[in-house]
Amino acid sequence: MRRRFKNVIVELRPSKIDPKGVGVFAITNIKQGTKIFDGIYLEDFNNLISWKIVKNLPEMTLQKINAFCVGTPKGFFPPENFDFNNLSIEWYLNHSCDGNIGFNKDGDFIAIKEIKPNDELSYDYGLVESNPKFKMLCNCGSYNCRKKITGNDWIKLLDDPEKKKFMHLYLRSKI
Ligand SMILES: [Zn+2]
Repeated sequence: MRRRFKNVIVELRPSKIDPKGVGVFAITNIKQGTKIFDGIYLEDFNNLISWKIVKNLPEMTLQKINAFCVGTPKGFFPPENFDFNNLSIEWYLNHSCDGNIGFNKDGDFIAIKEIKPNDELSYDYGLVESNPKFKMLCNCGSYNCRKKITGNDWIKLLDDPEKKKFMHLYLRSKI
C-alpha cells in the first residue's frame, strides 16, 4: 500500500481570539482561494438534528452543541458519529468579524485572504449560522467587530458584497 502524507498546513493552539479556547493556526503560507477543509454541503441541510431532541440530552452534550454546532431554525449539524470526543480540526475554527476563511460554492472552507504562518484561521459565523436563538459576544478586535453575534446576522451580511461572496450557498439561496 502506498502511503502519502498530505502537507501539514494547520494545527491547534491556544486561541488568540478566544482567551479560554483553542483555535486553528496556519503553519505555512496559504494562498487566497485555497480549500482548507471539507465544509458543509447542501444535502447536509436535509439531515439536521431537530432542536426538539435537545431537551432530553445531558448538560455536557448541550454545552458542546451550543459551543460547536452550526444551526438553522430547524436543527443543527451533529459531529461525525455523534461523538464530541473526536472532533476534527475544523470544528475548532473560531468566529471573527473579519475572518480569513469563508465558503466556496461547494460549501468547503477556503482562504479568502492571503494567510501567513501563525495567523489564526477564523470565519464569520454569520456566513452560515441561521439559528435565530444563537447568540455570542465577540471581542475579535476587528475594526468591523459587531460585538454581539446572532443567528440573524446573515440577513444583514447579505448587503455586504464581500461577505455575501463567501457566505454559504444555503443562506444565499434562501433569498
Ligand atoms: Zn468581532
